[in-house]
Amino acid sequence: MAAAAVSRLHPDRDHELHHIYDSRIPVIGVGEGSWPSLVPHLQQLTDLPDDTVQQRLKGTRKYGVAFEGWGRRGRDFTHHFMPRHASYAYHLSADLMADLLHENTRARHIDAKVLRITRVEGGARVEFEGRAPERYDLVFDGRGFPREIDPDRHIHISFVPTDTAVIRRCPAVIADAPDGPVLQHTVTRAVARPHGWIFVIPLVTHTSYGYIFNRAVSGLPEIESDFDAFLEADGVAEFDQRAVIPFPNFVHRHIYDGAVARIGNAAAFMEPLEATAIVSAQFQIGMVLQTRLNRPVEHLERDAPVVNRFLVSEMLCYGLFVGWHYSCGSRYDSGFWRYARDEAWPKYRNAAAPEAVGCAALPKFEGMLELVNQPVIDKADWNRMCAVPLTSYAQMSQGLGC
Ligand SMILES: Cc1cc2nc3c(=O)[nH]c(=O)nc-3n(C[C@H](O)[C@H](O)[C@H](O)COP(=O)(O)OP(=O)(O)OC[C@H]3O[C@@H](n4cnc5c(N)ncnc54)[C@H](O)[C@@H]3O)c2cc1C
Repeated sequence: MAAAAVSRLHPDRDHELHHIYDSRIPVIGVGEGSWPSLVPHLQQLTDLPDDTVQQRLKGTRKYGVAFEGWGRRGRDFTHHFMPRHASYAYHLSADLMADLLHENTRARHIDAKVLRITRVEGGARVEFEGRAPERYDLVFDGRGFPREIDPDRHIHISFVPTDTAVIRRCPAVIADAPDGPVLQHTVTRAVARPHGWIFVIPLVTHTSYGYIFNRAVSGLPEIESDFDAFLEADGVAEFDQRAVIPFPNFVHRHIYDGAVARIGNAAAFMEPLEATAIVSAQFQIGMVLQTRLNRPVEHLERDAPVVNRFLVSEMLCYGLFVGWHYSCGSRYDSGFWRYARDEAWPKYRNAAAPEAVGCAALPKFEGMLELVNQPVIDKADWNRMCAVPLTSYAQMSQGLGC
């Protein structure tokens, strides 16, 4: 995505762009839900109409997330993108999106392992395994999850209670359209289960299921057996076991320093309940390119910490929004849900305290909760956001009963 964005937006056609990857290190390959901003963004990056993009992605139109069994009200509800029934994102095939963006990238592709990235005067130096180092004006570091969470470099989102996913692929339930994009409205299902929750993402090629849980609280055999029971009740007779993926919940404290921009899973991650990873990458790439391409170079040193603080705050707001979904429990009074509601979520105030994280995500988030708890919301506040719009907070607060 970063390479396609540079190819499309760099005003100087003679710029030199290197796209570096290591073919021995696979991409994660999950990431099938998105937010509506991806629809115009992919049109911009590919110069293709929406319909064509959707067909290339073997995608469906995602109008929101349907929550089943969440919160204290005991009723199911949907978090819609607004305007309701009009605004949509994609459910997409992650590998096809990478292919589409690759086609729209003008770069030299280099298959090599990066060993080190260091800041040098006016840019960054990249060292490789088995090839000479290179110096760049700007590096997007998209090497995926950090190996470990280090409190000096990362903000640990300890208030999100999950850390592992089991992924299964099942037959499609949405029929492909022969001559155009599938117009049927779809939603991601997020179904509360005793050990966590299950996502159900309908594509035209298959339906993707993922069981999200905490490996310190529940064992893999318990997950597999509850997953089997769920699929059986859902009428799914066959599936492919795809992967077991451990993941960290974190925000990097130094997403951007003026020469190196961490993006994607290298910059921040929180469990996929609200599909916040691709939209976060859009934000990271967009902010960095906006300032690098449009602001005079003499502002760079002053801009970089401001952009960094903004990005850290946005990512942390996503984390707070996602963690809050667990705050009212679910229809299950199980070990996992007691841990999520009574132990993990109450850590949010300490974990996101402004003095600990260097940004104002926490007061911004708490301001949104105050707002949705008012009997009448002033019109002047309707457009307020804390990573996601007020309408998302209002729908979740109503649905969860908190
Ligand atoms: C269970 C689960 C569900 C998810 N669902 C969603 C979702 O619905 N929506 C969403 O938006 N996101 C979702 N995500 C997030 C998704 O993983 C990311 O959006 C997406 O994979 C982006 O990853 P990435 O490119 O940052 O990292 P990766 O996919 O890990 O790619 C890293 C790349 O860096 C290269 N690399 C790594 N190290 C080196 C090195 N030393 N030298 C050279 N190259 C290197 C690799 O070759 C690879 O190409 C989900 C994640 C998980 C775990």
